[in-house]
Amino acid sequence: MHDSDQSAATGPDPVLCDLCGVAAPPASQLFSLVPDSSVIHPYDPEQDGLRRLVACGPDHLGELRQQYRQRPYVKEELWAGKIARALGSQPDLDEEELAEVTGLNFLQIERTLTWESERFLSDQTPPGEHERPGDAPGTTDDKGAS
Ligand SMILES: [Zn+2]
Repeated sequence: MHDSDQSAATGPDPVLCDLCGVAAPPASQLFSLVPDSSVIHPYDPEQDGLRRLVACGPDHLGELRQQYRQRPYVKEELWAGKIARALGSQPDLDEEELAEVTGLNFLQIERTLTWESERFLSDQTPPGEHERPGDAPGTTDDKGAS
């Protein structure tokens, strides 16, 4: 005679719905992969650009998928993430090594850099006039002028 111990000591972490944050019971959990160019997997390039959605039921899964369908998928954003990941672990890669590690070609890397600087500039809203070097006051100290 022995009791069967059915309560496992280590249960899985509760899975939270991406939409409402409720811990969904395993029976009603739903998963879906959607394209998302801002997602970069920590180490597996095969999973870059894919977001795994978790929902507590079909309604919320449908709503989440709808949200990501409206999000623009920008290839340069994905490439920028791949480059950042590569440089994060190996900061002194040259361009050739970077291409090899990221799986991108030089053209794609160049387009990514252009895209990033354009995005940077549009975020910054630069001032209309640039200060000219040498135009700063106090640099000339000509006492005998007048
Ligand atoms: Zn939900």
